[in-house]
Amino acid sequence: MQSWGSEAVLDRADNRRKVPEWVSAQWCRSGAQLLVVDAEGQVATDETMSRPQGVPTSGNYNAQIHTFLGLVDNVPWFTAEGPVTGPRASLRHLGAVSGGAALELVVGAVALTAWHRLEPYCPGCGARTRAAAGGVTRRCPACSRVQFPRTDPAVIVAVIDPDDRLLLGRQASWDRGRMSVLAGFVDAGESLEHAVHREVFEEAGVRLREVRYFGSQPWPFPRSLMVGFVADAASSDITIDRVEIEEAAWFSRAELASALAEDRVRMPGPASIAHRLITAWQGRLLG
Ligand SMILES: [Zn+2]
Repeated sequence: MQSWGSEAVLDRADNRRKVPEWVSAQWCRSGAQLLVVDAEGQVATDETMSRPQGVPTSGNYNAQIHTFLGLVDNVPWFTAEGPVTGPRASLRHLGAVSGGAALELVVGAVALTAWHRLEPYCPGCGARTRAAAGGVTRRCPACSRVQFPRTDPAVIVAVIDPDDRLLLGRQASWDRGRMSVLAGFVDAGESLEHAVHREVFEEAGVRLREVRYFGSQPWPFPRSLMVGFVADAASSDITIDRVEIEEAAWFSRAELASALAEDRVRMPGPASIAHRLITAWQGRLLG
C-alpha cells in the first residue's frame, strides 16, 4: 500500500516540459511508454492486473492527445485516453495492489485524462482550449487564459473519544454495513482545520479539542485530494445529522474487530486513506 508521505519517484520535469520540442523528443526516445486509460478510467495493466502496462510510443507526437506524465528512472511516460483491448483495472483496484512509481503513474494518468475529457472549454469565454506544457495546462486560443487541473480538497478525520474509541459513520447511500471515518469537502474560503471541525459537528454533533495532520492522498474520482487528520473529541456525545449520516457510533478496537469478523461492519476499500486511518488507529499508530 502506498504511504504517499515520501518523495515521489515520478519526475514530472516541471520546467523542461514547458518546451514543446523537449516533450516531443521524449515521445521519440527509445523505450518511451504510453499508458492508455479508457473513458471509464480503467487503466491498461499486465496479465496479473496488478501493474500498469505501457506500450511503446509510436507514430507522431500529438500534444492534444498525448499527455506527458514524467520520467521514471529516466524512462519517459505518456498517457492518452483510448480503448483498452487487453487487461485493465481501476485505480481503486491498483491502489490496493500496487505502489511506488507504478501507482504514481496510474493516479496521474487517471486524473489528467479525466480532466482533459471533462473540462475542455475556457471558463472565461467558452472557447475550446488547447493542451500545453505536455498536457498539465490548457491554454485558451481566444483569450489566452491558462487553466490548470482543478483539485478539490476534502478532509477526512479519525475522531477519537476520551475512551480511545473511534468514530465511524454511515451514509444512507452506502451498501449495508459499510462504515467509515467522517469526511467532507472543504468549502470556499475555509481552512482544512475549520472544515474538519465543521464536518464532524455537522454530521455527528461532536466538538473537537485538537486536530492533527495525518497525511494526504490524491483521489481523482474525478479530482479530489483527500487530506487526513486525527482529532480528539471533547466528549462522547453524538447527535447525528440524518441528512448526511444515517448512523454513527464509537468503536473500541475489540468492538470493531468483532463487528468486522461478524460482517456487521465493512471497511472502506484498501486503496483509500480511510482504510489507512482506520488501520493506523487499530495498530495504535495514531499519535
Ligand atoms: Zn478564453
